[in-house]
Amino acid sequence: MRPSLLDPLFVPITSLAGVGPKIADLIAKIVPADLSDRPARAADLVFTLPNSVIDRRNRPGIALAPSGAIVTLEVTVDRHMPPPRGNKSVPYRVYAFDETGEIALTFFHANASWLERALPVGEEVIVSGRMEWFNGRPSMVHPDHIARKAEAGSLPLVEPVYPLTAGLSPKVLRRAIGQALERVPEMPEWQDADVMRRQTFPAMRDALQRIHNPADPLDVSPDSAAWRRLAYDEFLAGQISLALVRATVRKLSGRPLTGDGKLIAALKKALPYELTRSQTEALTEIDADLQKPERMLRLLQGDVGSGKTVVALLSMARAVEAGGQAALMAPTEILARQHFASISPLAEKVGLRIAVLTGREKGRERADILAGLENGEINLVVGTHALFQETVQFRDLALAVIDEQHRFGVHQRLAMTAKGDAPDMLVMTATPIPRTLVLTAFGDMDVSRLTEKPAGRQPIRTVTLPFDRLNELVGRMRDAVAEGQKVYWICPLVEESEEVELMSAEERFSSLKPVFGDRIGLVHGRMKGAEKDEAMRAFKEGETRILIATTVIEVGVDVPDATIIVIEHAERFGLAQLHQLRGRVGRGSKASTCVLLYKDPLGETAKRRLSVMRETEDGFRIAEEDLKLRGEGELLGTRQSGTPGFQVARIEAHADLLEIARDDARLLLTRDPELKTERGQAVRTLLYLFGRDEAVRLLRAG
Ligand code: ADP
Ligand code: MG
Repeated sequence: MRPSLLDPLFVPITSLAGVGPKIADLIAKIVPADLSDRPARAADLVFTLPNSVIDRRNRPGIALAPSGAIVTLEVTVDRHMPPPRGNKSVPYRVYAFDETGEIALTFFHANASWLERALPVGEEVIVSGRMEWFNGRPSMVHPDHIARKAEAGSLPLVEPVYPLTAGLSPKVLRRAIGQALERVPEMPEWQDADVMRRQTFPAMRDALQRIHNPADPLDVSPDSAAWRRLAYDEFLAGQISLALVRATVRKLSGRPLTGDGKLIAALKKALPYELTRSQTEALTEIDADLQKPERMLRLLQGDVGSGKTVVALLSMARAVEAGGQAALMAPTEILARQHFASISPLAEKVGLRIAVLTGREKGRERADILAGLENGEINLVVGTHALFQETVQFRDLALAVIDEQHRFGVHQRLAMTAKGDAPDMLVMTATPIPRTLVLTAFGDMDVSRLTEKPAGRQPIRTVTLPFDRLNELVGRMRDAVAEGQKVYWICPLVEESEEVELMSAEERFSSLKPVFGDRIGLVHGRMKGAEKDEAMRAFKEGETRILIATTVIEVGVDVPDATIIVIEHAERFGLAQLHQLRGRVGRGSKASTCVLLYKDPLGETAKRRLSVMRETEDGFRIAEEDLKLRGEGELLGTRQSGTPGFQVARIEAHADLLEIARDDARLLLTRDPELKTERGQAVRTLLYLFGRDEAVRLLRAG
């Protein structure tokens, strides 16, 4: 149960004064929490932190206030000058003075009676806003703040500025946040006294107060002690909940997977190549995990083209040797079929029975597959999220491999877990996730890395080309195709609309069709499954030699003899995505080229991205650059700003805290696995506060 002291923060924001359903919808757009399955609450407002401040501490006096500056002035009201009757274009002016001079406070479309009340003649008032000098006369148009001198304290000298969305006025938002803040109770301290002292953390409530009511612009920096305190709270909550989930998941297990090695040996013999050293190492690590009675939770990271699939296959073979079944899940239909196409000849050669299951298998065929999985006749299955469905039952799922993990949510991971008797899990990702992000997303999951590419690979030459040289490029592609090369042509990413994205692909297809005739193919996300397969097959087998594609081919598609990739409007893509796309070539022994076609003028970030692409093929370096360039928003999740899955913590500013939080969480749970001590109880409050209460529920179940 949620500690009752948090109740005031768990009310919907519509219970705050001035927040109706309309305003609530607008506020929901800017709070950092994930609101996909609940309404916004007061607590979400508390964690909506300002991104900058307006500094109103400058009080130079009227005569010395520079034009354009935000200043605060202490003045005496002298006289009102309403506009002549009937002339709306002349503003209402209120003249006021201090010892240095006179200023006109200027109001358009003014409400006269309001002004008379706010600025009575003879009264000393404080005004704050932007100075303007016009023909040697100072004025301030629509001051941001007006207060009587006696109420000077109500004027925020360092005013927090919050993220905004159209239609939401800063005043309304500030008022709502102010109310939410008043609801923050005094909370028991969950932090370790030592960490508090070393980091000079304030208490949580004080930290929130300081950031929302800054006395200094530095208070609103992620580097301030107050913000770091909140980030640490959030990291600690995350690490504790991951540790609890992990502990529970491991407890479920109890089956070592071992085998006589015959299947694995046969598969290795059937491979047309030798495994790389890091493939062998990864397999050794995986095998050791499989043999342990605890459950495996391992992440296999390997850059595009590093050969993860075969590692998956050999791991799955071990599960079968041990008498179980194994499943490989891919995020898209194309990818699932491709995995199937590359794995099944090998698998069948050594006598494994393998099936593919996506949304497309229907009727009789589907029924047969489902029956085969249930009675154990099928050893291996490759599929999409269709595998998560309830109708899919395994006789004995011993290992689940998930490819391109970041596209699947935690829920789906858990759904898969429920399919077997606590199956071992191998998660594969081609996105080279920096270590810090692995930690935030997966906790201390074990990690195997494929650090080298298979032997014989050639580096990919990457060139950038402005769009006005398109014709020249098409000519060169025609020559390349005539020489027998294969070309991917990626159409621009259109963020706003899949529709437009599709159109651009179809347009490019028809404009190039006259040049390439029946050697050109098209594949996009809206095609029927069978059409997509056909387009991929034709390209793979060389019937078509230039394939126009949307980003559906971003992950995993494998046509080893494709040697050229053209990416249109490369400036619209993020680094990680460009890297993924480029990884479609350079998979065979022939030299490959990547052409980044861009539209001038390039922004600074886009320029930097393209040059990083030219400079390096190293996925880890690219991921780090990506983090630096645009925050980590798109590396793992879809949120525009901040660190995915976090409300206040920012990886780029708080990475150091993450490591401390992980150790802290471990130590805490070793000493107090049930969260029963005084600190443990306080930590429960922390978990609820950051929406990690699913972990608390596990405690009760376990
Ligand atoms: P990814 O890690 O991107 O999923 P894949 O598993 O699709 O990479 O492998 C990319 C290509 O490299 C495939 O054509 C695969 O057959 C080939 N490959 C995998 N391992 C080796 C190896 N040790 N030597 C040579 N080629 C390999
Ligand atoms: Mg792959």
